[in-house]
Amino acid sequence: MSLNINEIRKDFPILSTSIYNKPLVYFDNGATTQKPRCVVEAIENAYYQVNANVHRGVHTLSQRATDLMEESRETIKDFINAPHSREVIFTKGTTESMNLVAHSFCQQYCNEGDEIIVTAMEHHANIVPWQLQEQIRGVKLRVAPINDKGELLIDELEKLITPKTKLISVAHVSNVLGTINPIEKIIEIAHSHDIPVLIDAAQSVQHLPIDVQKLDCDFLVFSMHKVYGPTGIGILYGKEKYLNEMPPYQGGGEMIGHVSFAKTTFNELPFKFEAGTPNYIDIIGSGEALKYIKKIGLDSIKSYEDELLRYCTDELLKIDNLHIYGTVENKCSVISFLVKGIHHYDMGMMLDKMGIAVRTGHHCAQPLMDRFEIEGTVRASFAFYNTIEEVDIFISGVKRIVSMF
Ligand code: PLP
Repeated sequence: MSLNINEIRKDFPILSTSIYNKPLVYFDNGATTQKPRCVVEAIENAYYQVNANVHRGVHTLSQRATDLMEESRETIKDFINAPHSREVIFTKGTTESMNLVAHSFCQQYCNEGDEIIVTAMEHHANIVPWQLQEQIRGVKLRVAPINDKGELLIDELEKLITPKTKLISVAHVSNVLGTINPIEKIIEIAHSHDIPVLIDAAQSVQHLPIDVQKLDCDFLVFSMHKVYGPTGIGILYGKEKYLNEMPPYQGGGEMIGHVSFAKTTFNELPFKFEAGTPNYIDIIGSGEALKYIKKIGLDSIKSYEDELLRYCTDELLKIDNLHIYGTVENKCSVISFLVKGIHHYDMGMMLDKMGIAVRTGHHCAQPLMDRFEIEGTVRASFAFYNTIEEVDIFISGVKRIVSMF
């Protein structure tokens, strides 16, 4: 089904605003996406109509808020086809989901010298939580290399597996290169060695249909703000068998069973991992965001975004001295590039003056920058509300800047 982009854009009022008197061209969707009206309205309605603290309330308003929050959990469960909603945990974001797994998984399953495998293209959120575990309990991080195209060397990843490997944790899609990693293959290899796999879906869940049962991944994490939802909500999907064995990450609030000074017991899933008052209002908004995406359809979104990616890549490559980082065939709609002699920061600043929002810098992937021996890149990342006309504005902006240097 082809998308009616003009109609879709009406759902996102910010897309009709201006920056420096130029129509906004928002190509920073990898960092965060814009929010459709239905999400903002769901949040407004929740505050105005049902606001009361969830779960422990006997009164009607609290029960209504609880019902809406739990409906959202069901929507999210269905979106990734998780078997049970108790396997869907609400956190603050991908980063917190990752820290939760690193902390609780390592506490339960890792001893000194045990190993976690990641790849050279990970976001810091999939590096630093494991490094903290290196300091706390002597866990070792092993890094699977990539080639110059930005493709994971899967044979090399397999060679890193030893009897000490406890988990493989990989990005589904690189936030810098756009590479779609062969996670089905990685999971198959890992499981043949009885090793669980964590998928960082922060850059994939908004572009590709994900079915955690079909994938058979053991953990999957993502952030709602990158999926057209509110800020401050992350998702952790985990197989029950692991989540039941793993100890709580934080204490207090709904995560308790019974508390006494002699002994405290813990609640069942998912509440065991949801300490304190949850951000139930934004959780309610999150459900709306996924309903909105589902209505448009991820297959249509992917094929339209691929069109934008192809067109923009072809046009950029016509520019002299421009180098794209991440040139594999199987990519999501992210383009990182540098033009020889122009600092990425200067390019970003000058595009901003033209109303064009891109991201510059290391993109929280400094080891990947080291791999390519660069400090940073300019990154344009597209969403389904972007247009070919916007790509044209962006390309002529880059050309103007190149001609000025
Ligand atoms: N992982 C990847 C691949 C990302 O792109 C990001 C954010 O850019 C994160 C993790 C961290 O997400 P958040 O900052 O929402 O926790």
